[in-house]
Amino acid sequence: MAEQYDLVIIGGGPGGLAAAELAAKNKKRVLIIEKDGWGGTCTNRGCIPTKALLTCSKYYTALKKLKRLGINIADISIDFADIKKHQQQIVKVAALGAHKTLIDAQVETKQGTGEIISSQEVLYRDQQGNSKIIPANNIIIAWGSQPQMLPEINLSERILTSDGLLNLNILPASIIIIGGSVIGVEFATFFAELGVKVTLVELLDRILPYEDQEAADLLRQELTRLGIAIHTSTKLERLNDTGSVVTMQAQQNNNKLEITADFILLCTGRKPLLDTAQLDKLGIEYTKTGIKVDQNMMTNVAGIYAVGDVTGGLMLAHRATEQGKVAAGHICESNTIVYNENFIPSVVYSHPQIARVGLIQKSAEVQVIKSNYSANIMARTELMGQGFVKAFFQNDKIIGATIVGDDASELIVSLSLAVSAELTKKQLRSWIIPHPTLSEIFAPLIG
Ligand SMILES: Cc1cc2nc3c(=O)[nH]c(=O)nc-3n(C[C@H](O)[C@H](O)[C@H](O)COP(=O)(O)OP(=O)(O)OC[C@H]3O[C@@H](n4cnc5c(N)ncnc54)[C@H](O)[C@@H]3O)c2cc1C
Repeated sequence: MAEQYDLVIIGGGPGGLAAAELAAKNKKRVLIIEKDGWGGTCTNRGCIPTKALLTCSKYYTALKKLKRLGINIADISIDFADIKKHQQQIVKVAALGAHKTLIDAQVETKQGTGEIISSQEVLYRDQQGNSKIIPANNIIIAWGSQPQMLPEINLSERILTSDGLLNLNILPASIIIIGGSVIGVEFATFFAELGVKVTLVELLDRILPYEDQEAADLLRQELTRLGIAIHTSTKLERLNDTGSVVTMQAQQNNNKLEITADFILLCTGRKPLLDTAQLDKLGIEYTKTGIKVDQNMMTNVAGIYAVGDVTGGLMLAHRATEQGKVAAGHICESNTIVYNENFIPSVVYSHPQIARVGLIQKSAEVQVIKSNYSANIMARTELMGQGFVKAFFQNDKIIGATIVGDDASELIVSLSLAVSAELTKKQLRSWIIPHPTLSEIFAPLIG
């Protein structure tokens, strides 16, 4: 059979996987090429391993609370090798699951690299270096992103990005994390909960600048209580890996700051993986923030699409998934998805968590309704700490929400549905919430 595909996808992360599955379900002949692990950054170096680690530190911390429930546990300790085993096992299961989903959907998969050589041809190279030209009616670029490096800062055995850190098999005694955004805050939570001395350094005057200020302030208070030393308005100047420790020199309000730790973790953002030579050759338009696409995820070159982190913007797995579905839907001429960037929820998986969806800015026309965890009986029963939900309404419609507190990532799901359906207060009044649940925290929103 001639190897003419309806669709060839380069990159087996959430964006590529979603596009492949949907197109195959629509009876298209689909090939997906992945050079590394199925599931992409999310499964192998991102969402999944970090959440496996955070589960361990969460339970370890929770054990200390049990005494208040009348449960005495003696000799609590950590076996870091087992924590790593849990991380690796979960990643393995997720990667196998991602590949199985493709096979079940009858997507053809190839391990190796893909390079677009024309708008209808992909050059595939297998891991042994053999290559082959594959004809395709449509191509999706789903290459993802990579860590953003700082000028004049080089990686070393002790200066790592999240990729290197996730391969570290020893628990450091101390760590300095550069960058107080989502990834930095999640790693800070994990290490501090396991008793590591954590220093978090942020250039801006607050951590989590994209989150609601009050929610970020509450989290900062909790992280500080956990023992994390947070330095905001602090500019990293130099790092020196001596071979046994790393020293950081920084500038803080015109004062010099020098701190030494076992490791440095750089969490200074991510940038789209732009193979500019390839894009230029094909005439695909891009900026340094990502490949330019239209509402169907198509680039300026007909038949070539781009989805996920490579398009810049919010670098989140579920956004990549949604974009993958939009591109596949367009290719299959069966697009039923209304894709709206405003409806993409995002979560900081610290403890407590922050989750948000939609517009969360206050203005004269926006009504804010707030409800506290302290007034919820399940939050009290479960010994949850402080937290709140803030819902934002405009012209009687819910337009956004932010939640800080335990299980915020689960609570935001119902508000995401409400925001994306643009429900009015009247419609929300028909919402019946079981009792007793943490979700009853939404009662004041319903009125
Ligand atoms: C530490 C960390 C934690 C994160 N946590 C979360 C989270 O909790 N929730 C969330 O929503 N997002 C999270 N993210 C972000 C999330 O991982 C990404 O947004 C998501 O993976 C993007 O999906 P993608 O399909 O665009 O690209 P990726 O997942 O990056 O997949 C791209 C794939 O393309 C492959 N590839 C690249 N070039 C080629 C080539 N030439 N040929 C073949 N294959 C190629 C790569 O090997 C890779 O597997 C996290 C990221 C990190 C780093």
